[in-house]
Amino acid sequence: MSKNINTGFAILAVTLLLSSLSSSATGVKLVTAAGSEKWQIHDMNRPQPPIVDPGAPSAQGLAGRPPSDAIVLFDGKDLSQWRSVKGGPAPWKVENGYMETVDGSGYIRSEKAFGDCQLHVEWRAPLPARGEGQGRGNSGVYLMEKYEVQVLDSYQNKTYPDGQAGAIYGQHPPLVNACRPPGQWQTYDIVFRRPRFDKNGKVLHPARVTLFHNGVLVQDNVELTGPTAHKERPPYEAHPDKLALMLQDHSSPVRFRNIWIRELPEADQ
Ligand code: MG
Repeated sequence: MSKNINTGFAILAVTLLLSSLSSSATGVKLVTAAGSEKWQIHDMNRPQPPIVDPGAPSAQGLAGRPPSDAIVLFDGKDLSQWRSVKGGPAPWKVENGYMETVDGSGYIRSEKAFGDCQLHVEWRAPLPARGEGQGRGNSGVYLMEKYEVQVLDSYQNKTYPDGQAGAIYGQHPPLVNACRPPGQWQTYDIVFRRPRFDKNGKVLHPARVTLFHNGVLVQDNVELTGPTAHKERPPYEAHPDKLALMLQDHSSPVRFRNIWIRELPEADQ
């Protein structure tokens, strides 16, 4: 009996030893992952991350201040960073620190092109609310001119889930509806990883989006099936590594302010 107990303890000890070895092996693997092989754990010689002034958040009446390393695409003063998709200057209205879509004027796009990025956009649906479903406060933030994060007044306004505010249009409904009432400023904070194609145009990795709507996680690193579209899900077609950011004119007078972007280092996928 006591021999059996001793054997049992021996087995337990060996099991614990093996499990501790295996977790320390996993720890080593984690430390050496992602191109960190040359650094020891807690290595003081490892470069310090750059210091970034985080800026200041916006209040309802007042636009905030972007982080110090952001590229400012709209600071409330002019549309010099934007062009009409039809060519020429961006034809939207600018006043009181915001830009506003002009019905029929068409989409606008950023002069600069971007790939992987962190993007901050603030928008405000019209007050009083007009129309319903997709007709109320519709606009959109297009990453790389192809992948739409839907802008819509989704406050007490029912529509198809993959077309409401915070949706990747036609593909991914938001995890929750975090929409504020019309007339209030709302924020989108987006992390975008562009699709990767091989030299023959085959998709190596689809595009991925993480989105916080008013600070609430609504898209958690979702994979896109391809470009977004109405009533269809077209397949990917190979495109350049950087393309413009685009804002939609969908005949609703939606306002935007405080738009900034941070280009991200290309991550291993
Ligand atoms: Mg839209």
